[in-house]
Amino acid sequence: MSAAAIPAGARLLLATHNAHKLEELRDILCGPGGVAGLDPESVVGAQELNAPEPVEDGVTFAENALLKARALSCATGRPAIADDSGLSVDVLGGAPGIFSARWCGRHGDDAANLDLLLAQLSDVPDPHRGAQFVCAAALVTPDGRETVEVASLPGTLLRARRGQGGFGYDPIVVPDGFDRSCAELSADEKNAISHRGQAFRALVPAITAALRV
Ligand code: IMP
Repeated sequence: MSAAAIPAGARLLLATHNAHKLEELRDILCGPGGVAGLDPESVVGAQELNAPEPVEDGVTFAENALLKARALSCATGRPAIADDSGLSVDVLGGAPGIFSARWCGRHGDDAANLDLLLAQLSDVPDPHRGAQFVCAAALVTPDGRETVEVASLPGTLLRARRGQGGFGYDPIVVPDGFDRSCAELSADEKNAISHRGQAFRALVPAITAALRV
């Protein structure tokens, strides 16, 4: 085992019930720039742990990420990570923002959330269709240490869906410097530039240190 390696079989607990996020985070944390020696099977989602979902009543991505990680660490007595993320649209003053998952009024209805946003922006001309995905990645350890990293992926919004990959608002977001939507990028392409990829790679040193204790 090298000096920076984590113990064999170390498990990393992730406070999400979202299967797409779990898959993305396994790729990010176990891929290039991730936690050395971490096996994808060892990244365990809240569903598998039967962990309760706390009420997300923070008013920022960072507050919500922290309260989810705190609740899971508290319930398990282990280090826990969480993310809170969403799409911030310039002409909407940053909305849907922290309400991205329930913009249509129902939590997790990706199709309805996206349809509503497209309708709200139908009259907005192309030069004003800027937006960014934002992600806060949080780590909480049982001794009360808390670390948060926030990152964003700027882009522009299409008028109709394009692409079959990804989840959520991916089919209408074209990252700056690309001519394809996030739903047309491969998983590796998206993870290399995404808000979630950047935020969690920034958290890697803290995660590695927490898993070595
Ligand atoms: P959370 O689970 O409370 O963090 O809500 C995240 C919501 O933001 C998701 O349900 C999606 O609607 C949206 N979102 C966050 N990240 C992404 C992404 O990478 N692609 C597409 N939609 C995203």
